[in-house]
Amino acid sequence: MSTIEIKTKAGSFYPGKVLCVGRNYEEHAKELGNEVPDFPLFFMKPSSNLAHSGAVIEIPPYSDDMNYETELVLLIGKDIKNVSPEEAEEAIIGYATGLDMTLRDQQNILKGKGHPWEKAKCFDNAAIVSEFILKEDLQLTLDEKIVLDVDGETRQNAPLNLMIFKPAVIVSEISKMMTIEKGDLVFTGTPAGVGRVTSGAVLSGYVEGIPEVKATVK
Ligand code: ZN
Repeated sequence: MSTIEIKTKAGSFYPGKVLCVGRNYEEHAKELGNEVPDFPLFFMKPSSNLAHSGAVIEIPPYSDDMNYETELVLLIGKDIKNVSPEEAEEAIIGYATGLDMTLRDQQNILKGKGHPWEKAKCFDNAAIVSEFILKEDLQLTLDEKIVLDVDGETRQNAPLNLMIFKPAVIVSEISKMMTIEKGDLVFTGTPAGVGRVTSGAVLSGYVEGIPEVKATVK
Protein backbone atom coordinates (compact mmCIF):
# COMPACT_ATOMS: atom_id res chain seq x y z
CA MET A 1 0.00 0.00 0.00
CA SER A 2 0.97 3.58 -0.52
CA THR A 3 2.39 5.24 2.53
CA ILE A 4 2.14 8.85 1.46
CA GLU A 5 -0.61 11.27 0.63
CA ILE A 6 0.09 13.90 -2.03
CA LYS A 7 -1.91 16.99 -1.22
CA THR A 8 -2.61 19.46 -4.01
CA LYS A 9 -5.14 22.17 -4.77
CA ALA A 10 -6.85 19.56 -6.96
CA GLY A 11 -7.27 17.19 -4.01
CA SER A 12 -5.22 14.36 -2.53
CA PHE A 13 -3.50 11.62 -4.49
CA TYR A 14 -2.30 8.21 -3.28
CA PRO A 15 0.42 6.78 -5.53
CA GLY A 16 -0.07 3.13 -6.38
CA LYS A 17 3.08 2.83 -8.49
CA VAL A 18 6.40 4.59 -8.78
CA LEU A 19 7.37 4.30 -12.44
CA CYS A 20 10.98 5.16 -13.27
CA VAL A 21 13.21 5.48 -16.28
CA GLY A 22 16.97 5.11 -16.26
CA ARG A 23 19.71 6.46 -18.55
CA ASN A 24 17.52 9.29 -19.77
CA TYR A 25 20.33 11.86 -19.94
CA GLU A 26 23.18 11.01 -22.29
CA GLU A 27 25.98 12.34 -20.08
CA HIS A 28 24.67 10.35 -17.09
CA ALA A 29 24.43 7.13 -19.12
CA LYS A 30 28.02 7.63 -20.22
CA GLU A 31 29.34 8.48 -16.75
CA LEU A 32 28.18 5.03 -15.62
CA GLY A 33 29.62 3.36 -18.73
CA ASN A 34 26.20 2.55 -20.19
CA GLU A 35 24.94 2.74 -23.75
CA VAL A 36 22.44 5.47 -24.53
CA PRO A 37 19.12 3.62 -24.93
CA ASP A 38 16.92 3.79 -28.01
CA PHE A 39 13.88 2.99 -25.85
CA PRO A 40 13.11 4.28 -22.31
CA LEU A 41 14.79 1.92 -19.81
CA PHE A 42 11.96 1.20 -17.42
CA PHE A 43 11.90 0.01 -13.80
CA MET A 44 9.62 0.42 -10.79
CA LYS A 45 9.70 0.98 -7.06
CA PRO A 46 6.91 0.00 -4.67
CA SER A 47 4.87 2.91 -3.32
CA SER A 48 5.93 1.91 0.21
CA ASN A 49 9.44 3.16 -0.70
CA LEU A 50 8.07 6.70 -1.02
CA ALA A 51 8.73 9.43 1.51
CA HIS A 52 8.10 13.14 1.71
CA SER A 53 10.89 15.70 1.59
CA GLY A 54 12.74 15.85 4.90
CA ALA A 55 13.02 12.08 5.25
CA VAL A 56 16.00 10.34 6.78
CA ILE A 57 17.46 7.64 4.52
CA GLU A 58 19.11 4.69 6.16
CA ILE A 59 21.81 3.02 4.06
CA PRO A 60 20.95 -0.69 3.90
CA PRO A 61 23.63 -2.83 5.54
CA TYR A 62 24.42 -4.66 2.27
CA SER A 63 25.58 -1.47 0.54
CA ASP A 64 28.58 0.81 0.87
CA ASP A 65 27.77 2.99 -2.13
CA MET A 66 24.40 4.73 -1.87
CA ASN A 67 24.00 7.32 -4.65
CA TYR A 68 21.59 10.21 -5.12
CA GLU A 69 19.79 10.77 -8.43
CA THR A 70 17.82 14.01 -8.67
CA GLU A 71 14.86 13.86 -11.02
CA LEU A 72 11.79 15.60 -12.34
CA VAL A 73 8.75 13.68 -11.04
CA LEU A 74 5.41 13.64 -12.86
CA LEU A 75 2.02 13.25 -11.17
CA ILE A 76 -0.56 11.40 -13.26
CA GLY A 77 -4.07 12.75 -12.87
CA LYS A 78 -6.22 10.04 -14.45
CA ASP A 79 -6.17 6.41 -15.49
CA ILE A 80 -4.60 5.97 -18.93
CA LYS A 81 -3.79 2.98 -21.11
CA ASN A 82 -2.02 2.90 -24.47
CA VAL A 83 -2.14 6.65 -25.04
CA SER A 84 -0.35 8.92 -27.51
CA PRO A 85 2.23 11.43 -26.28
CA GLU A 86 -0.42 14.16 -26.68
CA GLU A 87 -2.89 12.27 -24.48
CA ALA A 88 -0.08 11.46 -22.04
CA GLU A 89 0.77 15.16 -21.76
CA GLU A 90 -2.86 15.87 -20.82
CA ALA A 91 -2.74 13.20 -18.11
CA ILE A 92 0.31 14.79 -16.45
CA ILE A 93 -1.18 17.22 -13.96
CA GLY A 94 1.70 18.11 -11.66
CA TYR A 95 5.40 18.06 -10.93
CA ALA A 96 7.77 17.52 -8.03
CA THR A 97 11.49 17.24 -7.48
CA GLY A 98 12.45 13.70 -6.54
CA LEU A 99 15.42 11.73 -5.28
CA ASP A 100 15.82 8.23 -6.72
CA MET A 101 18.22 6.73 -4.19
CA THR A 102 20.27 3.92 -5.67
CA LEU A 103 22.73 1.39 -4.26
CA ARG A 104 25.33 1.64 -7.01
CA ASP A 105 27.48 -1.24 -5.76
CA GLN A 106 24.48 -3.57 -5.75
CA GLN A 107 23.34 -2.25 -9.13
CA ASN A 108 26.74 -2.95 -10.67
CA ILE A 109 26.66 -6.53 -9.37
CA LEU A 110 23.12 -7.03 -10.70
CA LYS A 111 23.92 -5.45 -14.07
CA GLY A 112 26.95 -7.69 -14.40
CA LYS A 113 24.78 -10.75 -13.90
CA GLY A 114 21.92 -9.50 -16.06
CA HIS A 115 19.63 -9.59 -13.02
CA PRO A 116 16.75 -7.25 -12.14
CA TRP A 117 17.59 -4.07 -10.23
CA GLU A 118 15.23 -4.27 -7.24
CA LYS A 119 17.94 -4.89 -4.65
CA ALA A 120 19.67 -1.69 -5.80
CA LYS A 121 16.59 0.48 -6.24
CA CYS A 122 13.99 -0.66 -3.71
CA PHE A 123 14.38 0.03 -0.02
CA ASP A 124 12.58 2.20 2.51
CA ASN A 125 12.72 5.93 1.66
CA ALA A 126 14.42 5.17 -1.67
CA ALA A 127 12.03 7.51 -3.50
CA ILE A 128 11.69 10.95 -1.96
CA VAL A 129 9.43 13.67 -3.36
CA SER A 130 9.01 17.37 -2.73
CA GLU A 131 5.61 18.99 -2.56
CA PHE A 132 3.86 18.97 -5.91
CA ILE A 133 3.03 21.95 -8.08
CA LEU A 134 0.12 21.62 -10.48
CA LYS A 135 0.63 22.12 -14.19
CA GLU A 136 -1.97 24.89 -14.10
CA ASP A 137 0.52 26.84 -11.93
CA LEU A 138 3.67 25.97 -13.89
CA GLN A 139 4.17 25.90 -17.62
CA LEU A 140 7.21 23.65 -17.81
CA THR A 141 9.40 24.51 -20.81
CA LEU A 142 12.15 21.93 -20.08
CA ASP A 143 14.64 24.82 -20.14
CA GLU A 144 14.48 24.67 -16.33
CA LYS A 145 17.56 23.42 -14.55
CA ILE A 146 17.65 20.48 -12.19
CA VAL A 147 20.05 21.08 -9.31
CA LEU A 148 21.31 19.07 -6.33
CA ASP A 149 23.50 20.24 -3.48
CA VAL A 150 25.15 17.83 -1.06
CA ASP A 151 26.28 19.53 2.16
CA GLY A 152 25.93 22.87 0.37
CA GLU A 153 28.09 21.89 -2.61
CA THR A 154 26.46 21.65 -6.05
CA ARG A 155 26.79 18.18 -7.56
CA GLN A 156 24.14 18.12 -10.27
CA ASN A 157 23.16 21.08 -12.43
CA ALA A 158 21.69 20.50 -15.89
CA PRO A 159 18.69 21.61 -17.93
CA LEU A 160 15.74 19.24 -18.28
CA ASN A 161 15.98 19.58 -22.06
CA LEU A 162 18.97 17.22 -22.02
CA MET A 163 16.47 14.41 -21.45
CA ILE A 164 16.58 11.84 -24.24
CA PHE A 165 12.91 10.89 -23.80
CA LYS A 166 10.66 13.78 -22.83
CA PRO A 167 7.89 13.38 -20.21
CA ALA A 168 4.99 12.83 -22.62
CA VAL A 169 6.94 10.17 -24.53
CA ILE A 170 7.94 8.36 -21.33
CA VAL A 171 4.33 8.28 -20.10
CA SER A 172 3.02 7.21 -23.50
CA GLU A 173 5.56 4.36 -23.74
CA ILE A 174 4.85 3.07 -20.20
CA SER A 175 1.10 3.25 -20.90
CA LYS A 176 1.61 0.76 -23.72
CA MET A 177 2.83 -1.74 -21.11
CA MET A 178 0.28 -1.21 -18.35
CA THR A 179 -2.50 1.02 -17.14
CA ILE A 180 -1.09 4.07 -15.42
CA GLU A 181 -3.48 5.02 -12.68
CA LYS A 182 -4.50 8.32 -11.15
CA GLY A 183 -1.92 9.21 -8.52
CA ASP A 184 0.92 7.17 -10.00
CA LEU A 185 4.30 8.94 -10.11
CA VAL A 186 6.88 8.90 -12.90
CA PHE A 187 10.57 9.54 -12.16
CA THR A 188 12.09 10.78 -15.41
CA GLY A 189 15.80 10.02 -14.94
CA THR A 190 18.78 11.97 -13.66
CA PRO A 191 21.43 14.14 -15.30
CA ALA A 192 25.17 13.67 -14.88
CA GLY A 193 26.86 14.22 -11.54
CA VAL A 194 25.51 11.32 -9.49
CA GLY A 195 27.64 10.26 -6.58
CA ARG A 196 28.02 8.51 -3.26
CA VAL A 197 26.66 9.87 -0.01
CA THR A 198 27.65 8.77 3.46
CA SER A 199 26.19 9.04 6.93
CA GLY A 200 25.33 12.61 7.89
CA ALA A 201 25.08 13.96 4.32
CA VAL A 202 22.38 16.56 3.74
CA LEU A 203 20.81 16.55 0.27
CA SER A 204 18.89 19.47 -1.12
CA GLY A 205 17.63 19.58 -4.70
CA TYR A 206 15.16 21.36 -6.91
CA VAL A 207 13.96 21.86 -10.42
CA GLU A 208 13.53 25.54 -11.23
CA GLY A 209 9.92 26.54 -10.48
CA ILE A 210 9.23 23.33 -8.54
CA PRO A 211 9.48 22.91 -4.74
CA GLU A 212 12.72 21.76 -3.15
CA VAL A 213 13.36 18.22 -1.94
CA LYS A 214 15.54 17.59 1.11
CA ALA A 215 16.83 14.44 2.76
CA THR A 216 19.42 13.38 5.29
CA VAL A 217 21.48 10.21 5.22
CA LYS A 218 21.63 8.27 8.47
ZN1 ZN B 1 16.96 7.42 -11.48
